[in-house]
Amino acid sequence: MIITLFLFSYYIISTMRTYLYDDEKLNVRTTSNVVASFAVDYMNKETGALDKERFTAFINGIGVDAQMRVMVLSRDVTVLYDSQNNRNLLGTAQVRPSVMSAINGIDGFKQYENGNIVTLDASAPIFNSDGEVIGVVNIVYVPDSAIKFMDAIFGEMFFLIIVILLLVGIIIFVIANLVSKRIVDFTSKITSMGDDGILDEKLDISGHDEISRLGEAFNLMSEKVVNLEKQRVQFVSDASHELKTPLSSIKLMADSIIQTPDINVEYVREFMIDMNNEVDRLNRIVNKLLYITKMDVRNEEDDKHFELISLNDIVQGIEKNLQPLAKKADITLVFSTPGEIFLMANKDVLWQGIYNIVDNAIKYTDTDGYVLVAMQQTDGKVIIEVRDNGVGISEEERGKIFERFYRVDKARSRETGGTGLGLSIALAAVKYHNGQIEVESEEGKGSTFKIILPDVVPLREEEAQNE
Ligand code: ADP
Repeated sequence: MIITLFLFSYYIISTMRTYLYDDEKLNVRTTSNVVASFAVDYMNKETGALDKERFTAFINGIGVDAQMRVMVLSRDVTVLYDSQNNRNLLGTAQVRPSVMSAINGIDGFKQYENGNIVTLDASAPIFNSDGEVIGVVNIVYVPDSAIKFMDAIFGEMFFLIIVILLLVGIIIFVIANLVSKRIVDFTSKITSMGDDGILDEKLDISGHDEISRLGEAFNLMSEKVVNLEKQRVQFVSDASHELKTPLSSIKLMADSIIQTPDINVEYVREFMIDMNNEVDRLNRIVNKLLYITKMDVRNEEDDKHFELISLNDIVQGIEKNLQPLAKKADITLVFSTPGEIFLMANKDVLWQGIYNIVDNAIKYTDTDGYVLVAMQQTDGKVIIEVRDNGVGISEEERGKIFERFYRVDKARSRETGGTGLGLSIALAAVKYHNGQIEVESEEGKGSTFKIILPDVVPLREEEAQNE
């Protein structure tokens, strides 16, 4: 700011100065010319002598500026007339450049500068009627008022600059203080979040400036972190609970075998069968938990492993696996495809996505029901629709069924070997393929799960380069 202000005022002052002195220069040169054109009338054409009395009257009569020192010089540059007699130069020779130029018949001018005192020196030749130079009119002028004016401007400008600098300085100081105070406040809160683990700390975002926006973004992020943390704690607690239930049953049964003396072998056998079932259940939960954790990590990675696969192959495999289950429950399981569907996907992951949904449809459909699996490839999408006429899901529950360990009917889920993780796995698998799952359902009438996958799953970079 200081540099800009000084450059600006330097420019203004020098422009004004040039303009002002140009004006004065013209004035002094014109005056010397006018006086020279009249001076010839007061000079003897042969001797070049000047009629001083008449000439003085003439000068006084035309009212030349009193600040201008008017001199008339003879052909040999001797002063014949000087309007300022007090500094007597009469009779002296003036060999200044402007005078010498006029003697040669050309108007002469020179500007002298001494500090901020400027002296303008203009000369004009006096021609006789034959066009010969018979003398010179020389005017020396110190434009006092211009100098004073410039000094005043300079002083005012300087004062103005100081005032502007002070004002701007104060404003910048106040704003910078406000801004840095908030940044310091932000920093201390963020640090306390990191150091003390206080995650629900909120930043003050009053205002509409960049810092408030930064605070807003941070608050949003901290909200997400808090939610993630809540989900993590909930997940650990749910998982522990789910693992604890079968473990408690096993422990109970083992205790009763140990504590019953002379226990009947048949009883032991029955307990062992139940314990075996509970171990199977534990196994299922642990395997699914491990798979979900693996999918969480894989979904975070950019590097996805896709290949060109036939959807029909996957679906046929699932059919082979689940047909016995459907038969056991007297459920008609039908698969329909319009033809062979190919897409870029991860075979194992996609299998998990479709399998869990078809498995659910069988599990939550009563005897004599049906489950229909239909596939189609349209508008750049591959849609796998799984429709059943089972128990259905209420609107309220529909939003929760993808949560880990969430089950609408715990007893039924347990009976059918459910863990509450099937849909979480299916969703993670579909998300891995950048797809989505839509659910339509009516309680008591049935449900339709639609897996929608983008037809062209982006190729990995190196695969794209190989093409
Ligand atoms: P589970 O192992 O209990 O089946 P899921 O995560 O697969 O767990 O499903 C969560 C819950 O969603 C189930 O407990 C069930 O209540 C409900 N659900 C899932 N699929 C269906 C369906 N096709 N019909 C009715 N309810 C379903």
